[in-house]
Amino acid sequence: VPVVVAIDGPAGSGKSSVSRAAARALGYAYLDTGASYRALAWNLLDTQVDPADPDAVIASLTDFDFAIGTDPEAYFVRVGSSDVTEAIREPRVTGAVSAVARIPEVRAWLTERFRSIMRDTEFDGIVAEGRDITTVVAPDAPVRILLTADEDARMARRSKELTGESAAAVGEALRTRDRADSRVVDFMNAAEGVTTVDSTHLDFDETVAAVVDVVHD
Ligand code: C5P
Repeated sequence: VPVVVAIDGPAGSGKSSVSRAAARALGYAYLDTGASYRALAWNLLDTQVDPADPDAVIASLTDFDFAIGTDPEAYFVRVGSSDVTEAIREPRVTGAVSAVARIPEVRAWLTERFRSIMRDTEFDGIVAEGRDITTVVAPDAPVRILLTADEDARMARRSKELTGESAAAVGEALRTRDRADSRVVDFMNAAEGVTTVDSTHLDFDETVAAVVDVVHD
């Protein structure tokens, strides 16, 4: 049975890149659950379905054909035959994703997919990262981590990733999304038994090392 390392945290905590690097260091697979929510949002925009219309979104799941690469050395996200690895990071997708993620049927549908990906991985373990991995998707995982950083640090990191947007706009978008998302699942506070790794004063390599240390403990 593959070892599951569950990691949750807010936007801009460095979760994705840290989780992927930790997976690489451990020789494990990597599952980016946020990318799956994003792929669904991208598909809705692409097919002109209103992300704010739950019935239409739920109906779209029948034909939603997505694939995500879980080898940390070969990450990709595909919808049908389109490679959407880059496109799912566009602000229009980021702006639509929270509305999609608050639909319970969407969460249940994707959670099933995540669990089967975790079960079927050919790696010895898998680092699964998102907002509700430690609490809903894999509450029984032997390693559960909440990756945090204070708000200023998260905004500084996110504005470095996104060029061409003002720091104020980036900060506001991040706050708005975290507020919407935390109404659905609590990823700001560690659930019982979850280890907090605070990266506010750690650089990237130190954060990865801290995560790997929790796994080895
Ligand atoms: O992690 P990332 O910022 O790419 O996630 C995109 C969006 O997907 C989040 O803003 C949230 O709405 C949703 N999400 C979620 N549950 C997860 C992972 C992501 O609701 N486990």
